Amino acid sequence: MVTITFTNSKSGKEEIFEPINPQNVRLYVCGPTVYDRAHLGNARPVVVFDILYRLLQHVFGKQNVSYARNITDIDDKIIERAGIENVAIDVLTRTTHRWFRDDMAELGVDYRDDPRFFEPRATEYIDEMLRMITGLIAQGHAYEAERHVLFSVESYSDYGCFSGRSVEDMIAGSRVEVAPYKKNPMDFVLWKPSADDQPGWESPWGFGRPGWHIECSAMSHALLGESFDIHGGGADLKFPHHENEIAQSKCFSPNSDFARYWLHNEMLQVDGKKMAKSVGNFFTVRDLLDQSIPGEVIRFVLMSTHYRKPMDWTQKKIRDARTILRKWHDMTMDVSAGTPPHAIVEALASDLNTAAALAELHRLASEGDVQGLKSGADFLGLLQSGSDGWLNADPENVDSRLVEKVEYWINRRAAARADKNYSRADEIRANLASIGIMITDSPNGTTWEQDLEHEHLGNWEMLE
Ligand code: AMP
Ligand code: ZN
Repeated sequence: MVTITFTNSKSGKEEIFEPINPQNVRLYVCGPTVYDRAHLGNARPVVVFDILYRLLQHVFGKQNVSYARNITDIDDKIIERAGIENVAIDVLTRTTHRWFRDDMAELGVDYRDDPRFFEPRATEYIDEMLRMITGLIAQGHAYEAERHVLFSVESYSDYGCFSGRSVEDMIAGSRVEVAPYKKNPMDFVLWKPSADDQPGWESPWGFGRPGWHIECSAMSHALLGESFDIHGGGADLKFPHHENEIAQSKCFSPNSDFARYWLHNEMLQVDGKKMAKSVGNFFTVRDLLDQSIPGEVIRFVLMSTHYRKPMDWTQKKIRDARTILRKWHDMTMDVSAGTPPHAIVEALASDLNTAAALAELHRLASEGDVQGLKSGADFLGLLQSGSDGWLNADPENVDSRLVEKVEYWINRRAAARADKNYSRADEIRANLASIGIMITDSPNGTTWEQDLEHEHLGNWEMLE
């Protein structure tokens, strides 16, 4: 049996993973709030926990592992977006959910035929949330005030332990919503009132909707039970989201463990800053796919950094991944996948070290062990059969309309130079650079490259 170790965010230490029941290993991961396309940062936990799921399935047997990743389909951001776009909330969330499923499938994360994968939508678990909130009030952990129900942080002595903060620190350090009806400014919402034109459900506290945190406590409880094995999510969710999930779940079921191991992926960054919708420094997975960057290449890049380290997204990483995968595809064209090499399983079993697993693939490739390479890559969700369509695209692997547009301008620049109109030629070069297209002259002609992080990428209207 392979020994698995994880860095458990609960203790901050690397621990040996021992499931509650090896015949029923249970994993829960916080999923997306569905109002917009997933950006690349959102894809990081999806890929990281897909690798974890594969490892658990390999070690404990496919039929013995369950994975739940929720869809948050009720949230103020959703209500706001639906209002701006003037669409029904249900249409917005279902469309976004479908996009999410399709985009992640391109990255090799496709559970459509997996009976042990659950994708609960929050709005389908309102009864479970009402039951939990009622229980928390009955046990003195929550109170009703002005049609809201709030969790009382003072009722739970371990509040703050998980994220390592005292209640005083939290009040001093965070922008908590001060509301006259809160007994303590850190008390957080379990239920809040909805206006008539907002989505809501009847409850003992009036027409309203749940807070975000209670959604995950209710869904994990309903699907995986009051104690389960692993809870995952991005490190940005440790506080307040996971601290609050723990408070609610432990107070509702005092004798439970809730989640025994917590795994958090670090943030994907651009120039050292977290990629986030609110910062505006994001690109969606679909943006990259539309630029003919294969999902497999994106997956490879996301796996190249250990999940607990922040990682920068750079064009060089995409280029390098593309070159390596192209080579590996060529080498393994006629090989079928078998059992993954032990060293790859070991690398993942050691705190999910995907970077070490990729290094092992490199080693196998350099030794010419194509069978090991194919089997190891297949286990990691790479070199899948049928995934090599991108290899046959044009040499630069960029879409042909883009090639046409760039060539049009390169030709006009060449014509300007032929006319000795150097200022016009320089202007065209600068214009291209202003939308992220860098051209280089060499004795063999003019070549070009796209800077995928450029803020004006694709803004061709800026050119004429
Ligand atoms: P959200 O839809 O914002 O709730 O995020 C969905 C998931 O993506 C959560 O697990 C977040 O922790 C994760 N996430 C958001 N931004 C990033 C990022 N820049 N890098 C890694 N994970 C992220
Ligand atoms: Zn959650």
